[in-house]
Amino acid sequence: MKFKRVVVTGGAGFIGANYVHYALNVHTDWQIVVLDKLTYAGNLENLESVMDQIEFIQGDITNPVDVHRALRGADAVLNFAAESHVDRSLMDPSVFVRTNVEGTLVLLEAARKEGVKRFLQVSTDEVYGDLHGSDHHSLETDPFRPRSPYSASKAGAEHLVFAYGISYGMDVVVTRGSNTYGPYQYPEKIIPLFITNALEGRPLPLYGDGSAVRDYMHAQDHASGIDTVLHLGASGEAYNLGAREQISGVQVADAILAALGKPSSLKRFVVDRPGHDYRYSVDPSKAEALGWVRRYSFGQGLRETIEWYMQNRGWWQRVRAKKEHQSLMQAWYEQR
Ligand code: NAD
Repeated sequence: MKFKRVVVTGGAGFIGANYVHYALNVHTDWQIVVLDKLTYAGNLENLESVMDQIEFIQGDITNPVDVHRALRGADAVLNFAAESHVDRSLMDPSVFVRTNVEGTLVLLEAARKEGVKRFLQVSTDEVYGDLHGSDHHSLETDPFRPRSPYSASKAGAEHLVFAYGISYGMDVVVTRGSNTYGPYQYPEKIIPLFITNALEGRPLPLYGDGSAVRDYMHAQDHASGIDTVLHLGASGEAYNLGAREQISGVQVADAILAALGKPSSLKRFVVDRPGHDYRYSVDPSKAEALGWVRRYSFGQGLRETIEWYMQNRGWWQRVRAKKEHQSLMQAWYEQR
């Protein structure tokens, strides 16, 4: 499948920006339109080096006027735009439903009216819910058991995407990526939070006993997986994207502290997240069968990511100085 004009919503966020950088390298003939509201998580610095190669529209995916403006003449839409932080969804779920569910609906409706060729929804392995106590790896055919407002809103969005495929014959595909890390990740998420806290000599907050495991995947591997599904995925299908890793919070903290030569005493065990999911793990065989190949082991990906945060102190220090970041840290961690 070939595309010329591609809309990337949420392209100023973490994975969206990684995808834009990836796509500009491999699809040199593409016109890329980024539609992004620039919420607390959106950052134009993430696109600074490529601004002259893309069209940037500041707009909201829940606003049909913004969405139609971005989608005019487009042949593919990749929907990365979302409220993405589970802890924030526990504090204020309503914006998660607005952006993640209603925003996806507005995009689908506009894509249908504008005759977009393919719609790709960036979803998450969290729709499968907690796999604690089993050694199962989630398959695309498994039922949804979302347990946080964030994962419930992502599951709701997926249902709409598949409904548009069936009801209106739209060509839709979905990716369900695992926990992702890499450059440009907002420092509320575990890996950049731990790296930046460690660099400043602050404690690394671990939920409960820190044993919850995630399948950490590098953002460039996530980007290449999305691109593979965009081009080769079968219409109406979902594809798991994961790294076949099982890494606990304590292992993440230990690896970061060791790499930075910081003391283990910086680990701080805090009251667990309510309804915390202890294990996610996907079987990515279906995407691998399309020819998707990951480049990063966790060790190499983490080393490069730590290096990036060390070399880009200004980027994260500016983010951390903002009110939105400080109020989350105070409201969420200082009570625990
Ligand atoms: P992020 O929070 O870093 O970025 C989200 C981007 O969306 C920001 O640029 C923000 O400004 C934009 N945005 C938010 N609301 C918007 C709206 N109403 N209209 C337009 N733009 C809006 O998120 P991320 O970590 O890059 O995640 C991107 C996507 O990948 C999300 O859909 C998320 O659910 C999914 N995902 C994330 C992970 C992960 O580990 N981070 C894993 C699997 C899937």
